[in-house]
Amino acid sequence: MRFLVLSDLHANLEALTAVLERARELGWDRTLALGDLVGYGADPDVVVEATRRLPGLIIVRGNHDRVASGERPSPDLGPSALRAAVWTRRHLSSESREFLACLPPGPLVFTPGGILVHGSPVDEDDYLLDEDEGARAFQALDFHVGFFGHTHLPGSFVSRREAVAWLDIAGDGAAFPLGETDRHLINPGSVGQPRDGDPRASFAIYDDHARQVTIHRVPYDVASARRKILEAGLPAALGDRLLHGI
Ligand code: ZN
Repeated sequence: MRFLVLSDLHANLEALTAVLERARELGWDRTLALGDLVGYGADPDVVVEATRRLPGLIIVRGNHDRVASGERPSPDLGPSALRAAVWTRRHLSSESREFLACLPPGPLVFTPGGILVHGSPVDEDDYLLDEDEGARAFQALDFHVGFFGHTHLPGSFVSRREAVAWLDIAGDGAAFPLGETDRHLINPGSVGQPRDGDPRASFAIYDDHARQVTIHRVPYDVASARRKILEAGLPAALGDRLLHGI
């Protein structure tokens, strides 16, 4: 089975369109979505609709999805994220808002030994940023392959004989095999707001038969996504950061 793994789409239709074009060339059976369909970008409703239609969708919610669908924002949501969340609420159809409101929290088991989370298996809102946090995540749950998002940084935590290491995965088409006895916690990077200095949209293909994950990076029409953010009156920084992938 081949899984298309998408995270942090952030209402960026141009990025999602480019990702799906490339994914169609590669082929996939089921879709795993790690949350944050909306927030920051100017096309929340179309992105929710397009995501809902993806084949064999298995999905968990992200913090932006919760706020956009009506939950009270947590105090750690920054001012521009908050402004974008309020704007997003007003630009979602009631169907899309309802869809987001009903998304399950992670961790969610998608296959025996495989889990999805937005932030961390410990807490859906935690950021997995270093190896200590990675180690706690491996201890929190018994899984073999996990996918997470939230940090927008592609790579993988690998747990091998109790030691946990972080592996940066840069560039387009970077493939890494999943060791038979290793445990993996993989971030496919962000579709709609990459933050690793590479502005190209990021996603992964997980082939559970070949035991391999490949990260793909695709260029998209950043200028158009940015222009729409500015025209919508959203904070300009949300458009500008897309130019640099930060
Ligand atoms: Zn996000």
